[in-house]
Amino acid sequence: MNEMQYQVDLMNAMNEKLQNEQKMMKMIIETSTSAFVYYSYDRDEIHVMGDWESYFDFTVRRIGDLQRAVDYVDEAYQDEFSGCINLERRGLERAVTTVKLAGSGKWVECEASIVYGAGGKPSDKVVRFKDVTVVNDKNEELKYMAYYDGMTGLYNRNYFISRLTGFINKAREEQREVAVMFVDIDDFRNINDGMGLIIGDELMMNFGQFLAEFSADNVIVSHFTGDMYCLAIYDPRGQSDIEYVYNMIRNRTRQPFMTSDGREINIKVTAGVARYPDASENVLELINYAEIVMLRAKHNGKDSIQYFDSELLAEFMGNLNIENKLRDALYDMRFEMYFQPQYQASTGSLRGVEALIRWQDPEEGMISPAQFIPLAEKNGTIVPIGQWVIEDSIRTYMQWRAEYDRDFILSINISAIQYKRDDFVRKLIDTIEKYGMNPTDLELEITETALIDNYNDVTDKMKVLRDYGVRISMDDFGTGYSSLSYLKSLPIDTLKIDKTFVDTMLQDENSNIIMESIMGMVKRLGLETVAEGVEKPEQLEYLKSIHCDNIQGFLTGKPQREEDIESILKA
Ligand code: C2E
Ligand code: CA
Ligand code: CA
Repeated sequence: MNEMQYQVDLMNAMNEKLQNEQKMMKMIIETSTSAFVYYSYDRDEIHVMGDWESYFDFTVRRIGDLQRAVDYVDEAYQDEFSGCINLERRGLERAVTTVKLAGSGKWVECEASIVYGAGGKPSDKVVRFKDVTVVNDKNEELKYMAYYDGMTGLYNRNYFISRLTGFINKAREEQREVAVMFVDIDDFRNINDGMGLIIGDELMMNFGQFLAEFSADNVIVSHFTGDMYCLAIYDPRGQSDIEYVYNMIRNRTRQPFMTSDGREINIKVTAGVARYPDASENVLELINYAEIVMLRAKHNGKDSIQYFDSELLAEFMGNLNIENKLRDALYDMRFEMYFQPQYQASTGSLRGVEALIRWQDPEEGMISPAQFIPLAEKNGTIVPIGQWVIEDSIRTYMQWRAEYDRDFILSINISAIQYKRDDFVRKLIDTIEKYGMNPTDLELEITETALIDNYNDVTDKMKVLRDYGVRISMDDFGTGYSSLSYLKSLPIDTLKIDKTFVDTMLQDENSNIIMESIMGMVKRLGLETVAEGVEKPEQLEYLKSIHCDNIQGFLTGKPQREEDIESILKA
């Protein structure tokens, strides 16, 4: 093959390839749902390709005609659009923008590119229009989901926070107040448990829709989670607007909510309010405080409203301070065990001792366990603290047993959080074995509230420990639900009758009767009884007369140090 023939073949092959490519391009453009405009500056030639008609209904003959497309675009997008198709004016090589067409409402992505030739003069221009309506609607939906709560249509938590920030910035400038109000449905869990999640959801939705009616320029309504709603009121004029909103809500709850299956549900709500700038100037803190007072109102009896005030703030700050100190206290071992004796009511001989923790802080002085134990439960430090209590009291107890020939019980308070730990039982047994304690000498005190969240898990662990020999005591009986029928099903040995019961039992005939019948029933269940907080001789006499087994209280002995217990053991 000579050189010439080779060149010709090569040219033909390249031509064919080129033609094929052009054919392919044409096919792609013709079947495309996009529209293309191609303009050659050199030849002043314009070509319109693709599905032009689905975007515009005018014909482009000269490059100037393209400008008419601007009129088809929604006014809000016209400037941007014009900038995009006339990108050479800005010296750009490529520009993209998404615009809305005024007539059809279509979302169109417009992409323009320019090829610049020698000397920086534009030589070719391509503009493409692409329908992105589906994608864009999806984005709008995503945006909606980012701002709104799908179930109630109210603002969601995040958007509430951003709008509340706006309120607060404005209030700062205008020297106004902003009230944040948390609203929570009382006993919603019972509704969910009793009627099912679907009804629960429906109620949440209906209530949310009712709250939505308060939405106004100066009121933001949002759905946080579950049955929690949060409102913000701009310039609430002291308490009057807040009270107005609260009373409207409360009045509404006096009528039932209807469900789709025709049921009527009555609800009550509890509200908590914190105000900018009084409670805090920080958005998240305000919300937090409103929630705290709401929870406090629940605790003090539901169906009410509570305002955050300086007293609460002081208490809250105090708790925060203590919470922060807890870890250091644990690290520096600022804790000490005290023991309070328990005596048999009839004989007066020692029944046992209850281990009670004490915390001596260098700045605050003595901090009561009644104050710090709930905080330690909240932040989890109760687990190491509780483990230390177990270890330290068992060690002390075993020293006593080695030194004094006395048979008595060691009672230790155990928090629900400790019970919930998977390794609780194993660790406790390990400690008992480490010190060689007889498990039947150990009694664990647990409160009713510890059973509420995790009944099965906790009672299972109680059973394992009981099979091992440890005694279980129900603490604070008389303060919780105190249903005698359910006591029967619990794996317990002892019942501790709370001080509040002891305080009131001599007040009147009725309390007398209640106490006596409880004592009778408890006896029939085979439980041992310990009356707590006995301060007066007449209480002791009365308890003896109704056959209460044991007593514990300031009358017979306060909680005291290890060495003071030793003098009791010696006697
Ligand atoms: P609790 O288990 O009901 O303990 C009885 C509380 O009543 C003790 O308060 C005790 O000092 C007090 N008390 C006993 N007799 C009388 C009396 O005659 N009159 C009066 N006014 N009070 C009496 P304390 O030691 O301040 O403990 C408070 C609570 O803190 C305990 O209540 C218990 O729930 C918790 N706690 C204490 N130590 C521990 C612990 O080591 N672990 C856990 N988880 N909780 C503990
Ligand atoms: Ca106790
Ligand atoms: Ca108690």
